[in-house]
Amino acid sequence: MTDAVANNLRQVGQRIAVVAQASGRDASDITLIAVSKGQVEQRLDDALAAGQLVFGENRVQEAQSHWTARRAARRDLELHLIGPLQTNKVRDAVELFDVIQTVDRPKLVDRLVAAFDKIGTARDCFVQINTGEESQKAGIWPDAADDFIAYCRSAGMPVVGLMCIPPLDEAPAPHFALLRTIAERNEIAGLSMGMSADFEMAITLGATHVRVGTGVFGARQVGYGAPA
Ligand SMILES: *Cc1c(COP(=O)(O)O)cnc(C)c1O
Repeated sequence: MTDAVANNLRQVGQRIAVVAQASGRDASDITLIAVSKGQVEQRLDDALAAGQLVFGENRVQEAQSHWTARRAARRDLELHLIGPLQTNKVRDAVELFDVIQTVDRPKLVDRLVAAFDKIGTARDCFVQINTGEESQKAGIWPDAADDFIAYCRSAGMPVVGLMCIPPLDEAPAPHFALLRTIAERNEIAGLSMGMSADFEMAITLGATHVRVGTGVFGARQVGYGAPA
C-alpha cells in the first residue's frame, strides 16, 4: 500500500487549498506539517517520495532515529518539534530540529538560547499556549502569555509563532480564536493549530501551520495515545 500516504497527502493538500480559498487566504501561506511520530519507516519514505518535506515529531529520540540519516541525504527537510522538551534534551533537539514549537517555561528559554549560541545558529521558536488551562497539559496559560513572550524576546529568542492543542472534549474553535488573539496583540505571525480532525477549522481561523498525523500516515503503530 505504498500509494496510501501519497494519496492522503494529495487529499489533505486539496482540502487545505479549498478551505484557504473559501477563507480568502493564500494556500501557500499554510504549511502542512506531516506528524510522523509512531509511524513505520516505510511511510516516512512514502511521504518523502511524494514530495513532502516538512515533518513533526513529539520525541527527540524517536525523531533522531527517524530523521538523522534521512536528513543527511535531504538537506531541504524541515523538522518541527511538537512535543514537550526536557532541558537535558535541548542540545540534541537544536541540532536536529529546525523549529521548536513547544517553548513553555523560562528555564527552557534560557537553555535553548544558550544552545543556539553554542551551535552558532538560532532555531525558529513557537510558544505553546495552554488555551484550555488544563493542569496536565504543557503550555503557558493565556493570562501569562504576554509576560512570557516578553521574557523570550528579552532573552534573544526568535519567537515566530504560537502553538496550541485544544482540550479533547471541547470544540476547538474558541481555542484557535484565543491563540490568534494572543498572537495578534504580541505581533506574532505564526499560528500552529489544527490536527487531523480540525485543521480546516483552524485554517478558517488563521492557522499558518497545521499538524496532521493520522490524516497523512494512517493510524500510528506504537506508543502514542492522545497528544498531551
Ligand atoms: C500527535 C500530534 C499531532 C497529530 O495528531 P493527529 O490527530 O494524528 O493528526 C498534532 N499535534 C501534536 C502536538 C501531536 O502531539
